[in-house]
Amino acid sequence: MSFEQATWVWKNGELIPWKDATVHVSAHALHYGSGVLEGIRCYDTAEGPAVFRLDAHLDRLYDSASVYGMEIPYNRAQLAEAVCEVIRGNGFRSCYVRPICFFGSASLALNPQRCPVEVVIFAWPWETYLGNKALEAGVRVTLSPWVKFHSRMLPTTAKACGQYVNSILAVREAMGRGYDEALLLASDGSIAEGSGENIFLVHGEKLLTNDERHSILLGVTRDAIIEIACNLGLPVEIRAIQVNDLLSADEAFFTGTAAEVTPIREVDGQPIGSGARGPLTAKIQQAFFAATSGRDLQHRHWLHLVASGPSKPVPATEATSLSETQRREIEHREGSAAMAREAAHCDPA
Ligand code: PMP
Repeated sequence: MSFEQATWVWKNGELIPWKDATVHVSAHALHYGSGVLEGIRCYDTAEGPAVFRLDAHLDRLYDSASVYGMEIPYNRAQLAEAVCEVIRGNGFRSCYVRPICFFGSASLALNPQRCPVEVVIFAWPWETYLGNKALEAGVRVTLSPWVKFHSRMLPTTAKACGQYVNSILAVREAMGRGYDEALLLASDGSIAEGSGENIFLVHGEKLLTNDERHSILLGVTRDAIIEIACNLGLPVEIRAIQVNDLLSADEAFFTGTAAEVTPIREVDGQPIGSGARGPLTAKIQQAFFAATSGRDLQHRHWLHLVASGPSKPVPATEATSLSETQRREIEHREGSAAMAREAAHCDPA
């Protein structure tokens, strides 16, 4: 994690220096976790830096905000451009991007209705989330004593700041016992997800994963992997995952923006399959990175080129109109997206 390389932050409509991007101690979100966030990755491609599935992440951001009655004072196009501005401004080729919208300072009554909605986007280079060797060697996980909250307690499909205290408890407890990551059970005893990842199992040639009925955040990466598996001819079954399903799996892996596709090699000391990255996990990883790098033309529409906007860190209020080159680039992008969508008729089981 290297925040040191980040110099510009987009805050409420303008790029400001990293050191000035501060929040007052009386901000509502600091006390009660009343914010919504996203985690997005930008990848280095032959066409320049490109944001992976920006639309899907922005959809989820607005949906999360809506659950909490928060009106984001910028539209989708403004936030998409703001994400690109941050990446361009900092000169990153690849990075992790964190948009956060939160209730700021005005009142500390639990109802945040009087608090302004602050919007901040920053980015930094973040290599592997679960350790340097995790993508190849896989991770060791433990079943957490902390249960994932049920959707009648907190909306599991919303990515809201305060909800992460559940993950923090689980991951701290797991790492304290020497594991790389925690697996949280849902209140019905089935497996929900990792502290910051969704889970997939491989049984023979079939993939198994769960959905929002089992207290998970519906991951953007999860969605991409379901489509990729489908295109590879691997059926995906979506149902509750029991602990037995995991222990008897041939392979298992996590998916997430930060974790990407990370094999799970062991659960509480018991190896999964051969106890190493399995062949289908490797195949899916390869296909995923082909999509993120732009080498897979079928999924080219998942990439949003960063270069298609003003090239200097200028405040959003001074945003210029599109040049002819930029307009043509967008037309090209939209054309290939439509073609790729048509080519990918894929319904998971
Ligand atoms: N579950 C949780 C709890 C998460 O925090 C994340 C990371 N956002 C995920 C799943 C994976 O979601 P995504 O693929 O959209 O990053």
